[in-house]
Amino acid sequence: MKFETLAIHAGQEADPATGATITPIYQTSTFTQEGIGRHKGFEYSRTGNPTRAALERCLAALEGAEHGCAFSSGMAAIAGVLSMLRPGDHVVSAADLYGGTYRYFEKVAKPNGIAVSYVNARDPENVRRALRAETRLLWIETPTNPLLELVDVAAAARIAKVRGVKTAVDNTFASPYFQRPIGLGADIVVHSTTKYVGGHSDMVGGAVLTSDKAVHEAVRFHQNAAGGVPGPFDAWLALRGLKTLAVRMRRHEENALAVAGRLRKHPRVESVIYPGLPDHPQHDLARRQMSGFGGMVTFRLRGGRAAADAFFRALKVFSYAESLGGVESLACHPATMTHASLPAEERERRGITEGTVRLSVGIEDAEDLLADLDWALKVSA
Ligand SMILES: *Cc1c(COP(=O)(O)O)cnc(C)c1O
Repeated sequence: MKFETLAIHAGQEADPATGATITPIYQTSTFTQEGIGRHKGFEYSRTGNPTRAALERCLAALEGAEHGCAFSSGMAAIAGVLSMLRPGDHVVSAADLYGGTYRYFEKVAKPNGIAVSYVNARDPENVRRALRAETRLLWIETPTNPLLELVDVAAAARIAKVRGVKTAVDNTFASPYFQRPIGLGADIVVHSTTKYVGGHSDMVGGAVLTSDKAVHEAVRFHQNAAGGVPGPFDAWLALRGLKTLAVRMRRHEENALAVAGRLRKHPRVESVIYPGLPDHPQHDLARRQMSGFGGMVTFRLRGGRAAADAFFRALKVFSYAESLGGVESLACHPATMTHASLPAEERERRGITEGTVRLSVGIEDAEDLLADLDWALKVSA
């Protein structure tokens, strides 16, 4: 079955108890059993809950994976993957990372004896050079935040595989609709379902998808042992979000293309970064490994922090806020928000300047979004 059909039906048969067409919110902590060892597959909701199980099966189907584990947040999902590692193990990670992932590697994994090397993974050869005998995991994000750089998943995963290293891809920015890393050779996909999967900025969640049985068993063990599970209502919201993921992503992309095109022509804009623009340095790779370019657009405004501040204050349709992937348009300032924890020189070195603006382009009317940007660019001059 195709993506749109799976999104609405995978894991979501009519409820066996009542025939409910939509998976019910099983708001229960425990399940009454018939006798010793006799139950209907569920005992206690940390271990398993039918609403969560439906979400796990649906997400796995959409990523082309055999197994899925849902978590209470993207970070809990990432911790679930890292739980496979033991002191002495080594991770090679792409340097351009979600701030929370970097913090987890530095402040949680490293003090627990796991070594992490950061490489510029835009060139997969850098991955090869960083591999050690103790390397267990390659960690990739593509496209990255906020500069929308790509990593060639197939090339990087091939290099890891010959050395017996598992490749994990944080697929939050592209969503499974535009990119399916397992099909490209990755072993593990991670999502913050808070973003495009949920899609309405009304829940926090995460997931790990894989076809590797040993990986799945380790992550499932951690899910139950550490207990970072989503409640039934949040699982249901993510499942509901998935049903419209395809139509939302198409619209996000359409609007993002319109926004990127308009910004590119604006005299107050220094540069626009969007993988869908033919002048994006990795546009060809984007066309090859993604089936669309997503809804995130980053640009550099002339005039530095003061101009950016005036721009944010003038916006009326875009909200000045962190996060991404919801139906509503958001604008954020990476230098002081998502990337504030990086030292200033490191930020500048990476190209996250004071004038850098990241847009999560929503699914509102494109003309309204363009008018809002035009207005804010005009009054912030
Ligand atoms: C938001 C985000 C995370 C963390 O997810 P939470 O749901 O906030 O815990 C991880 N990776 C990426 C790329 C993200 O955007």
